[in-house]
Amino acid sequence: MKYAGIVDRPSRLISKDKMKILKIMGYNYRCRIVDKEDLSNMGTCDARNQIIRLAAESCDQGVESTIIHEMIEAINFHLQLSLEHNKIMSLEAALHQALTANGVCLRPLLDASGWNARKKAIWKKKTRRSKGH
Ligand SMILES: [Zn+2]
Repeated sequence: MKYAGIVDRPSRLISKDKMKILKIMGYNYRCRIVDKEDLSNMGTCDARNQIIRLAAESCDQGVESTIIHEMIEAINFHLQLSLEHNKIMSLEAALHQALTANGVCLRPLLDASGWNARKKAIWKKKTRRSKGH
């Protein structure tokens, strides 16, 4: 799929049919689950084009934390906070800890980003393989 100024490599997209949206400050950020080798980090936030990319190779908690990180990146951009990256990382860890330690379930973020759908798809593949198909 092509968007203005962005060219993706469709073969690398794991859930290209299921375009998922994370809402941040009234903006609709499109989420892509991509191979980690295409990213230098566990995630990236393209705030100008409102695209968040998440590495496919990650655990649930890691993705939750990465989504919080990319949300802070987006807020940093839209509010022109000029936060340095190490501060964004500290905020990510602190927010994730404070929310989960108080029983806040971050699973809806995984659903919204398309992460859970991807995990299910992989699980299906694995169980099919183990049955000898
Ligand atoms: Zn970052």
